[in-house]
Amino acid sequence: MCVHLSMCVCVCVDRNVFLLMREVFSITWEEISVMDERNTPMRTYQVCNVMEANQNNWLRTRHISREGAQRVYIEIKFTLRDCNSLPGVPGTCKETFNMYYYESNNANLWFIKESQYVKIDTIAADESFTQVDVGDRVMKLNTEVRDISNLSKKGFYLAFQDLGACIALVSVRVFYKKCPLTVLNLAQFPDTITGGDTALVEVHGMCVNASEEFEAPKMYCSADGGWLVPIGRCVCKPGFEENKDVCQPCRPGTYKASATDAYCTKCPPHSSSPQEQAVECVCEKSFYRAETDPRSMACTRPPSAPENPISTVNETCVTLEWSPPRDTGGRGDITYSLHCRKCSGDGRKCTPCGSSVHFVPRQFGLSSATVLVTDLQPDSNYSFTIESQNGVSDLSPTPRGTVVINVTTSQTVSVVLKERRSKDSVTLAWQGPERPNGAIVEYEVIYYEKNQREQNYTVLKTRSNMMTVDGLKPGTTYVFRVRARTDGGYGSYGGEIELETSHEGKGMNDKYLFFAYNNCAFLFRHCGYIKAKQDPDEEKMQFQHGRVKLPGSRTYIHPHTYEDPNQAVRDFAKEIDASNIRIERVIGAGEFGEVCSGRLRVQGKREIYVAIKSLKAGYSDKQRRDFLSEASIMGQFDHPNIIRLEGVVTRCKPVMIITEFMENGSLDTFLKKHDGQFTVIQLVGMLRGIASGMKYLSDMSYVHRDLAARNILVNSNLVCKVSDFGLSRVLEDDPEAAYTTRGGKIPIRWTAPEAIAYRKFTSASDVWSYGIVMWEVISYGERPYWEMSNQDVIKAIDEGYRLPAPMDCPVVLHQLMLDCWEKGRSDRPKFGQIVTILDKLIRNPASLRELANSSVWSVGYKLNAVNSTLSLTRACSLEMIGLDYRI
Ligand code: AMP
Repeated sequence: MCVHLSMCVCVCVDRNVFLLMREVFSITWEEISVMDERNTPMRTYQVCNVMEANQNNWLRTRHISREGAQRVYIEIKFTLRDCNSLPGVPGTCKETFNMYYYESNNANLWFIKESQYVKIDTIAADESFTQVDVGDRVMKLNTEVRDISNLSKKGFYLAFQDLGACIALVSVRVFYKKCPLTVLNLAQFPDTITGGDTALVEVHGMCVNASEEFEAPKMYCSADGGWLVPIGRCVCKPGFEENKDVCQPCRPGTYKASATDAYCTKCPPHSSSPQEQAVECVCEKSFYRAETDPRSMACTRPPSAPENPISTVNETCVTLEWSPPRDTGGRGDITYSLHCRKCSGDGRKCTPCGSSVHFVPRQFGLSSATVLVTDLQPDSNYSFTIESQNGVSDLSPTPRGTVVINVTTSQTVSVVLKERRSKDSVTLAWQGPERPNGAIVEYEVIYYEKNQREQNYTVLKTRSNMMTVDGLKPGTTYVFRVRARTDGGYGSYGGEIELETSHEGKGMNDKYLFFAYNNCAFLFRHCGYIKAKQDPDEEKMQFQHGRVKLPGSRTYIHPHTYEDPNQAVRDFAKEIDASNIRIERVIGAGEFGEVCSGRLRVQGKREIYVAIKSLKAGYSDKQRRDFLSEASIMGQFDHPNIIRLEGVVTRCKPVMIITEFMENGSLDTFLKKHDGQFTVIQLVGMLRGIASGMKYLSDMSYVHRDLAARNILVNSNLVCKVSDFGLSRVLEDDPEAAYTTRGGKIPIRWTAPEAIAYRKFTSASDVWSYGIVMWEVISYGERPYWEMSNQDVIKAIDEGYRLPAPMDCPVVLHQLMLDCWEKGRSDRPKFGQIVTILDKLIRNPASLRELANSSVWSVGYKLNAVNSTLSLTRACSLEMIGLDYRI
């Protein structure tokens, strides 16, 4: 018990106290000196009036101050005679006595009435002794402890009442308990006197030097002097760390940035702290720390310049690509910005391009190493400065790392045209561009009957610079346009040349005309094929059924139009020597065999990563044809958003198709893996790429029939490319394809109703599928119509229901989806219009801020009832973003 005793207010018997009592009560308690066990003399108060009845003898202390304590303990040591051991004592002999107290603010009371005392307890002896002979005997001492609680006055008096016992009171010790000063969790708690009856005393701690409150520290002092329930804590201030209940400064070379960090840590790379108590380390010369960089991050520096810039010119557009800087400066937040200057022919004088030139996705802060620059002027020199920067570029005084690439846009053809006409033929001759951006490979002549351009048009090709077109109607005006193709791509179409064939009976007439070809684009429609007599090296373009054409594009030739399908492969795909291919690993399974990744070495160029599809052994002739049909289709396309064919291996086995490698694989899997990780602008950028690829395909009269996120591939720059062009793919390859009632196999959820109902596959049905791809992209790869059955999907679509907006879908994007899902196929937007809309959205991201309500789809759009509402909604949303794509 003494462990907790930090102070005794009254040690042993206080002589004066008892003297006082004797003075007050002239009673029978006597002050007597005796010897203790060790023969040391000591004073006792004794009473032993056992022979007489009716005893009532009081002994009282003087006033004892309680010193703030609410609970006080009284330890008494005494001896008590056993009545039986006293010969001849009457039955009134007692073996107990009573203990009382009286609380008072008055320290000088000389009289207290018996009735005013409060009884503490009746005290009995544990041990009594039988012999009275106290003088020469060893005494057996009893010790008893009692307590009084809830004291509130300044002090109290103690009193002992004897009712006829034989007692010797040896000592009275009065004390209280307190919780001792302590430091816990860097908070100091002072000496605290314990509370009253049951109360715990709540004590707030003070943070030790160089520390601060993390959570207000407190503890409870319990009645028996122990600390209980520590809550909260202090933490060492920045620049200090905890060591055995104190906070000591961080040593040089270390730092502590935040109070909540436990310990000082070593300075990160490229930084130091020469003084102690550092809250951060200072960056070495030429290294920096961005405001948002954590203090634990190494100091970094601006990146070096981008490398290996490459340009691909397509008329008045140029795609610029480059490699990331060799030195990233130690950071991962590299972005690129472009500066465009238009230069004079000799390249000496350059001026800024101004706002007429556009950059897709943007000019500044590009995260991927590629950009499409549009709206350049034809036949002009441009100088692009590509600048790399990172989060600390703005902090560095040194100029940014830049690389410059000079580009010449393709020349429109300025020609002197010779015209020679007969009643059914026209001979044209022209001069090629003066400064073509590469060797001229061929010329393309397009012509149609005046005012019939939507219905009839023909494309002819020739390697010479003259052509006779015959089979024309007499006395009819035709419009002709010519463009050149170099190994750098197609040039722009020149202006329209109107020529009238002579009337029946009239002879030939020759005429020389001068034309400066302009650069405008227009729409044609073809309804039949006009036979033209061609030069020996002219090549005839063939057409699928009526298609919309854009000059600047070619027409897709279906491999089935070739009598010998191998010829189609030879015409459109380059044969690759198998020894230049290194297969590295399997990345997927195709319809005809494995798909692997690997490298292709092309003479004079750097090694490139490729995907390699191989035809498994034991194939039939038909399988070989179908397998290679994908190459002869793909080989006709040349667009940044269409998977590029590198070539084929047909001369040895296995037969292989080599395409560019798309690091991120198919779009649906990629999106599922990165759920929620892209900004809406990034998603729209992906959709823009897909729409641009599809525009190119539809311009070439190619109908995809199986456009879905699973058939889009994604490269490391997030560029999406349309893939899967095999002839048999919809029938055999696509696991989503299901048999329809008419026998064909169709990916129902992605397919337009007219294509499901009567196999009307057109670019407009591809637009429907594109709307589904938009929905897949915005919902990060969710399955369209979830787990509904194909039959239910067909029924719901027929009744006018449409998929609701995915979560967080901008209202303009959902509206575009709904437009793609118009029942009437001519009401759907064209891919060109979709690209324009998405470009505008990218340029004006504020238009993407308003989100659609993701409603339950079944309360979606019922055609009959809501047709007018739908078009109203569209009008509003388009007005909002300033677009009108209706022709
Ligand atoms: P496919 O036979 O074209 O459907 O290809 C089967 C799988 O191989 C695809 O789903 C992709 O995961 C993968 N794959 C095909 N072509 C490529 C490519 N060019 N780059 C990367 N992965 C590809």
